[in-house]
Amino acid sequence: MRLSTTQLVVRRLQFGAGSLYCVGVWRWLFTLVFSLLWLPSVARAGELVVTFLDVGQGDATLITSPTGKRILIDGGPPTAENRLLSALQSRGVSSIDLLILSHPHLDHLGGLKKVVSALPVRMFLDGGFPSTSPGYVGLLKLLSARGVTLKESQLDRKIDIGDEAVLTILGPPQPFLEKTRSDINANSVVVRLSWRQRTALFTGDSEPQTEQWLLERPAPAIANLHAELLKVAHHGGKYSSTTPFLRAVQPQLAVISVAAVNDYGHPTPEALARLGQVGARIFRTDLHGDITASSHEGQPWQIKVAQGSGSSPSEAGLPAGPVKPPSELPPSPTPSSSEFVASSRTQVFHSATCVAAKKIVLANRLYFATRAAALASGRRPAEDCHP
Ligand SMILES: [Zn+2]
Ligand SMILES: [Zn+2]
Repeated sequence: MRLSTTQLVVRRLQFGAGSLYCVGVWRWLFTLVFSLLWLPSVARAGELVVTFLDVGQGDATLITSPTGKRILIDGGPPTAENRLLSALQSRGVSSIDLLILSHPHLDHLGGLKKVVSALPVRMFLDGGFPSTSPGYVGLLKLLSARGVTLKESQLDRKIDIGDEAVLTILGPPQPFLEKTRSDINANSVVVRLSWRQRTALFTGDSEPQTEQWLLERPAPAIANLHAELLKVAHHGGKYSSTTPFLRAVQPQLAVISVAAVNDYGHPTPEALARLGQVGARIFRTDLHGDITASSHEGQPWQIKVAQGSGSSPSEAGLPAGPVKPPSELPPSPTPSSSEFVASSRTQVFHSATCVAAKKIVLANRLYFATRAAALASGRRPAEDCHP
């Protein structure tokens, strides 16, 4: 599904006819290769740095190109906005050359409002999947008001970020995937970074159908999936990171951005096991804090981890990834009449059979006999089980 004419009109009205954003005719006018070389660069010649910022339950990845371009992929949840901005500023980020939003979920865009208000952003790019969520609409309005160039991703487009480092847009699928567990997740922007021999793949919250779509593309595109460094999809969710996909990517290093305490059971034992089976060394923001992968002059990735907030970065000469073995969860004493479960401490509800529901400590567990009752409590359906 592409944007309907009505949706385009709505977007034009919302963001002004002068905006370049989402206007179908414009997207085909962009050249396949367009360069950010005109942007002023910061002298950091010869080093490519990818930092997975610890923003709790969400994603935020900063890429610094060999010529000093700053690319931010996602901005974590609202609760991380101060942490995100200070983490950027402490790394000397005074402006962002390219801001990529993988998809319009709050755990990926919630911290961006503060960043966009504080730092100049030259260009914004997302997958164009329609969303009317207040967080997303508010972000687009703010970007528009700040004069940021708004663009929609174009499949296979290459973006030169300096010294022949290239971002290649591999997703979202076109046409958009429909009837998945979460169409917003399934239509995440998927980006591959390559520089000399170094490669990395960023998958947003891709769903299994996204991975399947990527695998069904023509051979050259599939070869493009190979990446040494993988930002694991959907915080290590149970369904993503399928074995066929991981076999195509062949990641040596896998980074999971996740909070130590979350409602979804992320990262799941299933995803961790599959990553372990392909031999990926696993790094997790909940265990390692900020995780930095850097390459000097194209040398192999060096990983540094903060190992928790406040501690100084240390070299990660780590043994095989800290793969959590699948845990046997004790059965929960769920009342048989209750089909929906929530934690008294969160704003989402799960089906009673959901793994995440079973992980909610009994003292905080709330039961609802009907979906309507769960909704009436002010909670929303959880992303993992979509009750
Ligand atoms: Zn997410
Ligand atoms: Zn999501």
